[in-house]
Amino acid sequence: MEKSATEGPPPGTETLQGVTAAPGTAAAPVARMGPRPRLPEHRPTVADPGAEGEAARRALSRVADGFDAQAGVLEGEAAEVLDALATMARDPELARRAGERAEGGEPAAWAVHAACDTYRELLLAAGGYLAERAADLADIRDRAVALLLDEPMPGLPDPGVDHVLVADDLAPADTVRLDTRRVQAIVTHKGGPTSHTAILARALGVPAVVGCPGAAGLRDGTVVAVDGDAGTVTVDPDPLRVRDLARRAAERRSAWAEHSGPGHTFDGTSVALLLNLGEGDPAEAAEHDSEGVGLLRTEFLFLGRAEPPSVTEQTEVYQRVLEAFGGRTVTVRTLDAGSDKPLAFVDTGQEDNPALGVRGHRTAGLFPELLTEQITAIAAAARKTAAHVRVMAPMISTPAEAAEFAELVRGEGLPEAGVMIEVPGAALLADRILQHVDFVSLGTNDLAQYTMAADRTLGPLSELLDPWQAAVLELVRVVGRAGEHRGRSVGVCGEAAADPLLAPVLVGLGVTSLSAVPAALPAVRYALARHTLDQCRRLAELALAADGPEQARRAVRAAAVPEVPAGDQVV
Ligand code: PEP
Ligand code: MG
Repeated sequence: MEKSATEGPPPGTETLQGVTAAPGTAAAPVARMGPRPRLPEHRPTVADPGAEGEAARRALSRVADGFDAQAGVLEGEAAEVLDALATMARDPELARRAGERAEGGEPAAWAVHAACDTYRELLLAAGGYLAERAADLADIRDRAVALLLDEPMPGLPDPGVDHVLVADDLAPADTVRLDTRRVQAIVTHKGGPTSHTAILARALGVPAVVGCPGAAGLRDGTVVAVDGDAGTVTVDPDPLRVRDLARRAAERRSAWAEHSGPGHTFDGTSVALLLNLGEGDPAEAAEHDSEGVGLLRTEFLFLGRAEPPSVTEQTEVYQRVLEAFGGRTVTVRTLDAGSDKPLAFVDTGQEDNPALGVRGHRTAGLFPELLTEQITAIAAAARKTAAHVRVMAPMISTPAEAAEFAELVRGEGLPEAGVMIEVPGAALLADRILQHVDFVSLGTNDLAQYTMAADRTLGPLSELLDPWQAAVLELVRVVGRAGEHRGRSVGVCGEAAADPLLAPVLVGLGVTSLSAVPAALPAVRYALARHTLDQCRRLAELALAADGPEQARRAVRAAAVPEVPAGDQVV
């Protein structure tokens, strides 16, 4: 905040409130995202339209080259995101439209801006997955315009020192390039706990506060103390506050180090702690302290291909994962195509509402061989290894679907079949579903989307998509009770499982395993170890009774066992 000597609150007393997105604390100077370039009010006249057209096309191609260069030094998903951006920036149709506008008399920056915006509108109108790509096109537009106006490139700052990254929101292309050695915490004005930024911050283990409108006034260099647990940002913190946060961070690290191995509550109830995996090196993932894999998203094998992988190729990939995890549990989810995960060879026809369309397990109705071949490959891989293999289907809606899936899995000699509970109808009938399958796992990302009738890809709806919504937790309770009744395990493998404050609540609702990104597990393990099962149940009651997600967090935080023992801790 820019303040004169006579105005504004005294140092350390101004606290901005946001939403907790990733736990942890840090204090460091602010470095803001580079601003978006703005077209000057005065539009210059064009002397040489041909040269202007050429400049417009060259700017787009230089933006693509920039993405390529960054992709070249990254691996895995990060490189893929940048490759996709480069392809989009190199789209010949985009270059043609921008070039033609410039040759028609518009200055190159204006022409690129308008061409990108026309495309963005088309994507936004298409909705779903394509609408998400609109943010990428805005990124391309801003970079090309910055080049043409000779302004600094928008995007991540590089102050060369440890800093707190402050942004409006982070685009996917920015998040994959974050330098976690320098970025101590992330604060965004927009977004909610399920936004892209929040998910990424949790995956990286970087404290984060999102949805913090006051952060818009923070200036580069202002020191802030970020408390990712309370969702607060203290401006110009006094040295005592900074010391307090540093102490908490150190204590937390040593507490995490003291708690390892299988997850459990304070009084010994087991809560399996598992990993969510996609592509990436399974051997590296297996080194994390976990009891195995709670969600192997097999889509990584299918995305971006014209034809599905063969049974042999699939078998080899599954075998690598199973071998890496030795005798531990590996839960393989069958293909979750459609809606936000479109595949070229799974053509479900024109759908006005793809999230309510043929997606997840429903695609097996149109393409049965995709599912049977995948199960054959999983079974072949399982026979070659010692892993404890479980197979589960995404987006199951009815007990009949669950029964059919279980029969298929067991028919291939795989002993454990389960289903994801992502549809409210399936949650309500969990008891009947559990008559047919060995386990269920709650996909809280989709469960929240369908319970709250809020598209999970829309940032402005993130409050509705918050797993702390009482309606979502009520459904978790229904499923938890069904699990207890049938003596079957009930997992959570959506983002909710990565939240250490929510973990005891979920266990109090009857959840028996949590599956999350590797960086989230130490905090979750420690949170469970501090609470007895009875305390978890009382926290669950508090969360269910709250009128909104923030009220629920506050009530649970106030009653939870603190990290650092402070006198009697009775929930
Ligand atoms: C979920 O919906 O919570 C889930 C884990 O599945 P995905 O995010 O892959 O749809
Ligand atoms: Mg899902």
